[in-house]
Amino acid sequence: MTNPKALLDQYDIQPKKSLGQNFLHDPNTLEKIVTTAELMPDDTVVEIGPGTGALTKVLAQQARHVFSVEIDERMRPILESELSAYSNVYLVFEDILKVDVLKLVGARDFVVVANVPYYITSAILRHLLDAHRRPRRLVLTIQHEVAERIIAQPGNLNLLAISVQFYGQAEIVTRLKPGVFWPRPDVDSAVIRIDTFDTPPVDVPNADIFFRVVKAGFSQKRKQLKNALSGGLGIKTKLAGELLDSAGIDPTRRAETLTLEEWASLSHAYASQKA
Ligand code: SAM
Repeated sequence: MTNPKALLDQYDIQPKKSLGQNFLHDPNTLEKIVTTAELMPDDTVVEIGPGTGALTKVLAQQARHVFSVEIDERMRPILESELSAYSNVYLVFEDILKVDVLKLVGARDFVVVANVPYYITSAILRHLLDAHRRPRRLVLTIQHEVAERIIAQPGNLNLLAISVQFYGQAEIVTRLKPGVFWPRPDVDSAVIRIDTFDTPPVDVPNADIFFRVVKAGFSQKRKQLKNALSGGLGIKTKLAGELLDSAGIDPTRRAETLTLEEWASLSHAYASQKA
């Protein structure tokens, strides 16, 4: 792989911390990311933040189409030159959060692979998972601490974990030391793989109601569920207690202890009370 520092020096570009620019310069990690994606020759890939194009090249060698969305216009000359041999790469210079990914890929099934700019990890996950059609798989390099939060189990569950686990099976594939990037980030990273479900693992009235209830539950984390739900949903504490009772959940429990199934039962109780 071409050394990212050498490339940026050649174009007289300084990496911007504000854009999460930590470039991968370890070929083994690159290899690990791409093998984790298990790409088929006919696949369509969306890459977020190609940077100097190191990952893009390998993706282009393994997939039919690669759509790479980069916010930093300064990378244009590097990417155009580095990727000139790959006619299956489509560069889009735009903020990923403003891009309608489904329009970009059309009717194609797709996989997302990205060494994510850490400052927008949650927003990117929301952007891709809340959509009416989701990627088949996501392979993302993110902060290790955030990866741990995503795979958390009841007892430690949190809004981000539920937002991901409702849509897919998530696992940490490997932990990465800061030294595999240049410049080195301040924290360890992880490669996480999320295989999305065709249908959610729990039965809910609809995703909007489910997430309204979950968000309300986590809105005042230190409070008992009864009080958090009452505040978050704008209902009386007594009614919140009744909803929890009818879902078979002790009203004094805290949000992080509930399973996905329990959140689903609670969202059913809330939906039938509203009906
Ligand atoms: N893929 C490259 C690599 O692995 O070396 C670069 C990864 S670097 C961690 C993150 C990349 O995302 C940078 O190139 C940065 O400019 C880009 N980026 C930051 N914010 C973005 C956004 N909102 N939309 C698209 N790209 C963004």
